[in-house]
Amino acid sequence: MESRRAQQPLRLAAVAIAAVACTACAVEPPNVGRLGRLYVAPAENVRIFSLGRGDTFGEVLDGLVSANEQAALLMAFQEHAAPRRLRAGTEISLRFLKDQDDVRGVDVALNPDTTVRLSREPLGWVSSLIQTPVFVDTLYVSGEIESFLWYALHQNPTLTNVPAADRAELVHNLDQVFQWQVDFSRQIQVGDTYRFAFEREVRPDGSMRSGQLLAAELVNVGTAYHAIWFDPNGDGRGSYYDLEGESVRRAFLLRPLEFRRISSGFTNSRYHPILNTWRSHRGVDYAANAGTEIQATADGVVTERRLDGSYGNTILIRHPNGFQTRYAHMRAFRNGIVVGSRVHQGDVIGYVGMTGLATGPHLHYEMLINGRHVDPLSVDLPAGDPVPSDDRMRWIEESGVRVALLDGIPSAGPVRTLVADASAPDPAAAAGATPTGGPQ
Ligand SMILES: [Zn+2]
Repeated sequence: MESRRAQQPLRLAAVAIAAVACTACAVEPPNVGRLGRLYVAPAENVRIFSLGRGDTFGEVLDGLVSANEQAALLMAFQEHAAPRRLRAGTEISLRFLKDQDDVRGVDVALNPDTTVRLSREPLGWVSSLIQTPVFVDTLYVSGEIESFLWYALHQNPTLTNVPAADRAELVHNLDQVFQWQVDFSRQIQVGDTYRFAFEREVRPDGSMRSGQLLAAELVNVGTAYHAIWFDPNGDGRGSYYDLEGESVRRAFLLRPLEFRRISSGFTNSRYHPILNTWRSHRGVDYAANAGTEIQATADGVVTERRLDGSYGNTILIRHPNGFQTRYAHMRAFRNGIVVGSRVHQGDVIGYVGMTGLATGPHLHYEMLINGRHVDPLSVDLPAGDPVPSDDRMRWIEESGVRVALLDGIPSAGPVRTLVADASAPDPAAAAGATPTGGPQ
């Protein structure tokens, strides 16, 4: 101890002399001792290939591994996926030991959530499936609508770091939930406001694996609509209810096409997804790309499925309480849909086309009650079931937590984000952290 301390001034002196010597001669840099290691050379080299259209996994391996080894690799890969069915753009990473030519590992990213990892083991190649890890957070979003909800969410500063595809998914989620209260394509007014809490699973690259709207409020022309998620069995098959526990759903979907699939002709900044209103021809026409999926709007039984003159390919479904719905101009029926088929709300029954008398691809949709045509957009549709009485106490507890989430979000103006503790997917935990003043 004592001797080391004694050496200290000596070493400092040596450095100082070296520095002086250097400025004098400028030939040899001073030896200032050993720096900490800043860079560690990787033990592996990695080469990444992106499959082109029509390329196969085998072609990537050609020339990099022997024929025998290629066969063994593909065999191991086949335990998880078909090597000839990889889509264009699939990323294949080959790992080599530094300074060696032998491939020692291969990663094939099947999709954003799943990678097949192939490793060279003493007895040959083995494969395993790796799930991309995710973290859970909650977005708290609010804002005012200046034109369309779609624009509002795309421009919301809270969502700057949310990928565009995920923002589109948010709009889709809100539309699915509020479709019976507000038709986003026709009824949104300038000055309408929204706020919602959205829980999502996020991959390391920032993209969303899945999301669940927990609670949402939409104020449309001064009327507030609420949708609170309630899933008493925790199996993801819950539903949305308003503040009183009444279902926000109706027995019929408002539209037989997903809102985001309806063609969006923007002219004079107005949104024209609907070609004709009911009054002009007792049906509603939705413009959409040929091939777009058509959904049964309610549970029922298929009573007609045929080529029907100017209607073209047509399906008629009989529903409870004297309701019928007709879907016309289809390009094709869905396989397995025949007269007598039982269908559920949201089931795909066919695809948009322009058979019969149609100038462009669109869906002609009709609704009848006891044989008489009614306007599906203005008829009072039968309500969905309220919160089951057995789950009432649970509902009061959980909805209270979720309404508190909503109430904590400032309704408009400056928008703030709170990222909930990733280890606490339970919304109750997030709410517990929410002061009455709002999530911050
Ligand atoms: Zn029509």
